[in-house]
Amino acid sequence: MNQSHELFERAKKIIPGGVNSPVRAFRSVGGTPFFTKKASGSYLTTVDDKKLLDYVCTWGPAIHGHDHPVIREAISKALQNGTSFGTPGPDEVEMAELLVDIVPSVEKVRMCNSGTEATMSAIRLARGYTGRDKIVKFEGCYHGHGDSFLIAAGSGVMTLGEPNSPGVTRGVAKDTLTVPFNDLERLEEVINANKDQVAAIIVEPVAGNMGCTLPAEGYLQGMRELCDANGIVLIFDEVMTGFRLSKAGAQGVYDVKPDLTTLGKIIGGGMPVGAYGGKKEIMDYVSPQGPVYQAGTLSGNPVAMAAGMAMLTQINESESIYTDLANTTEAIEKGFQANLDELGLGYTMNRIGSMVSLFFTDQKVIDFDTAKSSNTEKFGLYFREMLNNGVYLPPSQFETLFISTSITEDLVGRIVEANRTALKKIH
Ligand SMILES: *Cc1c(COP(=O)(O)O)cnc(C)c1O
Repeated sequence: MNQSHELFERAKKIIPGGVNSPVRAFRSVGGTPFFTKKASGSYLTTVDDKKLLDYVCTWGPAIHGHDHPVIREAISKALQNGTSFGTPGPDEVEMAELLVDIVPSVEKVRMCNSGTEATMSAIRLARGYTGRDKIVKFEGCYHGHGDSFLIAAGSGVMTLGEPNSPGVTRGVAKDTLTVPFNDLERLEEVINANKDQVAAIIVEPVAGNMGCTLPAEGYLQGMRELCDANGIVLIFDEVMTGFRLSKAGAQGVYDVKPDLTTLGKIIGGGMPVGAYGGKKEIMDYVSPQGPVYQAGTLSGNPVAMAAGMAMLTQINESESIYTDLANTTEAIEKGFQANLDELGLGYTMNRIGSMVSLFFTDQKVIDFDTAKSSNTEKFGLYFREMLNNGVYLPPSQFETLFISTSITEDLVGRIVEANRTALKKIH
């Protein structure tokens, strides 16, 4: 038995499912997870000394590759002053100034410790600000594990949502309305059916958590107009897309200004950091300035701020990061497409910038229903073959690849070759 297996057996006895976050258990792709002892540049090294080319990049944050020297140095330097103060510190001010400077829609910002905290706080704020209870979210979008988001859609505009997880109450479920992504008409219907009751619409402006799914032309603009006409707070959840698609995230690419933005992943440079920010008028409702309570013992932690600032400063000072990332990702996309076409396999690939997904379906993927037409069994086989070929992909059909600037032309060649070998084996 190898060490990963041994660790997993030990872990399962004392950690639910053996993991601290469900997707790591590989349940949707089959097999058992490997355990990592070290990450550097484009590679993970497993406890069994296997080197894997990593296209998960800790689910996005490692956009410059693992263990980047600039970020490591910033963390080491911060550590010399202690790991937590419990008082305000200068780094928090600098981090906030940086975020406000880079993201035009963010006028004020509050730091927290994860994407989930950011989204939970943002909807509480929107509710407090509007004095309304309901929120609208979209099927297939993921906003972390807050109760309000773990709600499945009802069957019609007037039927209530159902808790998606035991432990979420019906009381919470009745305040979450779920509609299909990319369907502006349906969204308008739901808003009209709940006139003056909707506090916020929360959306991944480019959805990454059902596999890369792009907003149709005019969709985000239409959503903005509906919010303006109905006094609804528009929240862009840019925990994944923030600093990945552009310095100003998806809102920078599509030129639509949300009222609030949630951030996470990349902004922590590999440390646990989240943030929510937006219009000053709304943010001033947050405690202690305003009445909406939100707090955190370790929020704005100096080590985490140092890592985040080193990350954001590098991105901010780079002229070419987003064209470089897009070029690398396009080369991977083209390579995969050539392999798929040669083998005559039905597929869909969606890409924007450095977000790309290969869906095992020949339907166009525009929402959760079409994403779900994918053959997930085939994806599982594909995932395991890629892993056998030394390439670690996100262990689910409903994710995007995460590309980092550490991926060279050679490494593009390696993933395309692995893709070819894997597809030949499974088709
Ligand atoms: C990852 C993610 C979250 C949750 O962030 P955590 O740090 O895992 O709590 C929320 N929204 C989106 C869009 C995400 O991709």
